Amino acid sequence: MVTAVFPGSFDPPTLGHLNIIERSSSIFDEILVLVAENRQKKSLFSAENRLSMMQELVKPWKNVTVEICGGLLAEFMKSRGLRIILRGVRGMDDFAYELELSLVQRALGGKIETVFLGTSAEYFACRSSTVKELASFGADFSWMVPPLVKEAVDKIEVLGYLKND
Ligand code: ADP
Repeated sequence: MVTAVFPGSFDPPTLGHLNIIERSSSIFDEILVLVAENRQKKSLFSAENRLSMMQELVKPWKNVTVEICGGLLAEFMKSRGLRIILRGVRGMDDFAYELELSLVQRALGGKIETVFLGTSAEYFACRSSTVKELASFGADFSWMVPPLVKEAVDKIEVLGYLKND
């Protein structure tokens, strides 16, 4: 059984994230989506909200589960005997950052390998921070997120969140 861990902020989940999950779910036996709970980093949605949105969104794929991770990813993986991190890349900037991160994870976790999956063309511009930016202007971001996320973002005061950033 090969389980790939897909860690991220998912603040909020986007169609780009779901595309990576959908495609990787037919490559690996199991996908564990890990919602990062980072007390130093401000987020629009609480980790519990991001977890429940993700749990709802991954229902179509029977081999995908979601958990919250509040600690160091490498430690979490070691404790569960997991080796594969899955990350999505949109372009060269993402790749440069992700490659560096993968070296850090390997230094911390020993046998940890990161697998990169390139974005699908239609989600190239899809990014959680852009969703928040557009929402703060009252602009249309529905093309970047599933309806459940659109409704959740619409209920939140995004401008106040960005101002306090
Ligand atoms: P963000 O979505 O703001 O980049 P996350 O930490 O939530 O940040 O992303 C989790 C993972 O999903 C990262 O590996 C990121 O590169 C990837 N990802 C995010 N959006 C896309 C997308 N549109 N296409 C491919 N991968 C993506």
